[in-house]
Order: sequence, then structure tokens, then C-alpha cells
Amino acid sequence: MNTCKASISAIESLGAVDGPGLRTVLFFNGCKLRCKYCHNPENWRMQEDNYTVDEIKEKILRFKPYYGENGGVTFSGGEPLLHSDFIIELSKVLKNDDIHLALDTAGIGNGNYDELLKLMDLIIFDIKDITDIGYKMLTGGSINSSIEFIEAAKRLSKKFWIRLVIVPGIHDTKEYMENLNKYIKKHFDLKAIERIEFLPYHKLGTEKYEKYHIENPYKDMEAMDKNKCDELYNYFMKIYESDQ
Ligand code: SF4
Repeated sequence: MNTCKASISAIESLGAVDGPGLRTVLFFNGCKLRCKYCHNPENWRMQEDNYTVDEIKEKILRFKPYYGENGGVTFSGGEPLLHSDFIIELSKVLKNDDIHLALDTAGIGNGNYDELLKLMDLIIFDIKDITDIGYKMLTGGSINSSIEFIEAAKRLSKKFWIRLVIVPGIHDTKEYMENLNKYIKKHFDLKAIERIEFLPYHKLGTEKYEKYHIENPYKDMEAMDKNKCDELYNYFMKIYESDQ
């Protein structure tokens, strides 16, 4: 019996966007960052632990027949790294059932990531910004902490999917794309990157800020134009692939 507990805000039975195939996604409470574009501000605060490893395992094993060849489980949030002990315990159990495990993270936890990373098959990593000042301005956190995580995953040869939310006025220039290309090439092992995704900033979280009485720094920010985001992505991929 494993009674290790964690605070989980939601469980998506079978999601199709957070990793390969169909996956059960666990959204953990708690995050040290305060990204101005966050659409889940209700997950920022740590809440009371509400699930044991055994309870989650039982749910996951019910969904396992739908995972097919590529699917599995994704740990998301909030910031799942704040629940390392729980995720390590659960992952050991799930690995016995040969379930593919992905970690969706900004890389801002409490350090000592190796034990958890060794159990992961894929890291879905959020690049928030590419300079210390920009990172601080957008998230309140330090880019160096996120780079420490990247370094740990790199040492263990982990596979990456990289994600970046494109915010108008911050990330939406060709010059930014050129600097992003340099940043990725400096900090990641390119052979380990399976996918790079741009997510256009959207306004879907706006009502949550009102509901939970949280000040919304992007109340008046326009959503990112999807076509422009696609154009930037194409531009980025061209330079990314051309000088590899
Ligand atoms: S890391 Fe994710 S959960 Fe945390 S503030 Fe940023 S967007 Fe929100």
C-alpha cells in the first residue's frame, strides 16, 4: 500500500495535446512562478493533499487500455516538480506497468531532479523567455533556475518537446526568433529535441482571474494573432533547421 499524497487540482482522463498519443494528465497544485499569461491562476497556491499514489494508480490503470502504442501519463500543473516525492513513487509503480511518462514543466522546482528525471520518458519544457530580465519580468522567477533543470535533463539524455507561449509585443518579432534559435542551440542537445511548438497567447483564463479575485496583469493584452504566430513559427523553423 502506498499512501504518499499530493495536491492535484484536476485529472484529465484522456487528453490529446500534452504529449504523444492519448494520455491521462494530472494537474498538480502549486507553482513558484506567476506568469503574466497564466491561464490557470487557481493552481498557483499549494492546496491540501487530496490523492494517494494508490488512488491515482487505480484511476490510471483504468485508462491504460486507451493509451495505445504512444500514449501514457503526463504530469502537469501548476508545477509538478513541487511534488517530486509523490511523482517518483507513482512513476515507479507505473513503470512496472510499462506506461510512458511525460513531465510538463517550466523547470522551477526545488533542485535535485535526477531521481525523478530518470523515470521520465519525455520532458515537455516551457521556455518562458530567453533573457534573465525578460524571464523575471514575465514570470517573477529566475531563468538560471530553469537552466539548471535543462542541464540536469541534458545530463540524463532526456528527450524534449519545447513549448513557448507567444505574447504580442514580447515574443512576436523576427529578431526574437533569431535569439530564440541561439538560446535553444546554446542550452539544449538538439538531438534530444523531438518537437518545438509555439502557443499563441489567448484570453481563455481571463474569467478565472475575476472569479478568484486575482489581479490580471494582462487584462488589456490582445490575444496573439494565430496567423502571425504561424508565420513566426515558420520563420523560426527555417533558421533553426538551416544552421544545425
Ligand atoms: S509556470 Fe505554468 S502554472 Fe506556473 S504561473 Fe507559469 S503558466 Fe502558470
